[in-house]
Amino acid sequence: MRRCEKAKEIILKEKKLTLDTVKKILKEHTTGICGHTKVHLHDDTVTLASVILNPKDKWLLLCNTNPCKGTYKKYRL
Ligand SMILES: [Zn+2]
Repeated sequence: MRRCEKAKEIILKEKKLTLDTVKKILKEHTTGICGHTKVHLHDDTVTLASVILNPKDKWLLLCNTNPCKGTYKKYRL
């Protein structure tokens, strides 16, 4: 399964796109959206950090490590 298909699956399962849904997608390991485990190291990409942008309300959330391990901190734009 590709990453975008997995994201769609999570959204359909949650039935509503919330901030928690977005965080859940970014923490996903089976397809490597959050990719840093030995399973995902073959595809030349590694997740180092995660950002969620909300330009409409002028803020971003930054998780300065793997999103499955860290927490998001909010910054005003
Ligand atoms: Zn992870």
